[in-house]
Amino acid sequence: MIRFENVHKTYKTGTDALRGVTFSIRDGEFVFVIGKSGSGKSTLMKCITREEKPTEGMVIIDKYCISKMPRALVPILRRQIGIIYQDFRLIETKTVRENIAFAGEIIGVPRKKLMQMVDIVLGAVGLRDKADSLPQELSGGEQQRVAIARAMLNSPKLIVADEPTGNLDPETSESIMALLSEINRTGTTVIVCTHDSNLVDRMKKRVIEVDDGLIIRDEKGSGYTAEEKHSLPQSMIDEFVPEVVSLSEITGVQEPAKEEKKEEPLPEFPSEETEVKEEKKPAKVEEKITVVATPSPKKEKKAEKKEAKKEEKKDEKKDEKLPPKKNEDPDFPSDEDPDFPSEIKEDKDK
Ligand code: ADP
Repeated sequence: MIRFENVHKTYKTGTDALRGVTFSIRDGEFVFVIGKSGSGKSTLMKCITREEKPTEGMVIIDKYCISKMPRALVPILRRQIGIIYQDFRLIETKTVRENIAFAGEIIGVPRKKLMQMVDIVLGAVGLRDKADSLPQELSGGEQQRVAIARAMLNSPKLIVADEPTGNLDPETSESIMALLSEINRTGTTVIVCTHDSNLVDRMKKRVIEVDDGLIIRDEKGSGYTAEEKHSLPQSMIDEFVPEVVSLSEITGVQEPAKEEKKEEPLPEFPSEETEVKEEKKPAKVEEKITVVATPSPKKEKKAEKKEAKKEEKKDEKKDEKLPPKKNEDPDFPSDEDPDFPSEIKEDKDK
């Protein structure tokens, strides 16, 4: 996790490059930092790698406040971060393999293990066949791939790339960005500072836009230019949308409204089965409500029978006074018989 807390950076010249920047980046995110030239993007990136120190505020990586970290510990921080620059920064006199291995040599990785690691990252960037070439024998895109392989060597949790495609043609830029995206898919957090609007638009990642030292946009799944649909502040959307649009309108699934649930009469004879279902499957709201609101025909019959039995019991007490019941005496006159009510009356009167 990276957190900028009200970060200000004023250079000795008096330029306010950052003027109170606050944001967080979660582990595993892919974030573009965009903005006009001179807006403060590079300064922001340099505060992550401690190439620059904020004049005010805090930069926190995991639980360490790296903006207050003693200078002696900075190399340790840098080993945890893969850094990629626009100008590749390869050592011209070293081969591709040596350039990559150099990052491991300075932290004392044993030679054999180091060579295995170099082989793996060279394979990952598709440059095994160029392992013994010198940087000047490679194209710009290939040199940037070497720089990415070097950044990957120590399996960093975070890769920071400052204009990684700034010196490359559009096609090569796309393949470099695809490679960074692939690295991100393995769980590495990737932060890319760029002005390449086409790539940003196509990749639909989180975009943090900086202008004059301030964050003016922070959107997920966005493009280089803010879209119309994002023009309403989220607080306004939260406030008004629920009144206008119900969940069922959006999803097509009938949402059980809270009021309906109150008004809906419970079945007269809720079975145990219904109650268990409600307890065991609280998530399936629709199913629960359907069961409660619409008892099955079987249950209805059962209920009717129960009701009938109750009535029978009540009636048994009055049996002596009342005439024999219709269902007990097949010869008992039918309801349609015009004489039926008067016969009962006569009987009762006796
Ligand atoms: P961006 O990366 O968006 O082009 P920068 O972060 O490089 O912007 O620069 C932001 C502002 O800070 C600019 O006005 C720039 O001139 C100034 N600036 C950058 N680096 C330094 C420095 N080392 N010393 C003085 N001013 C600087």
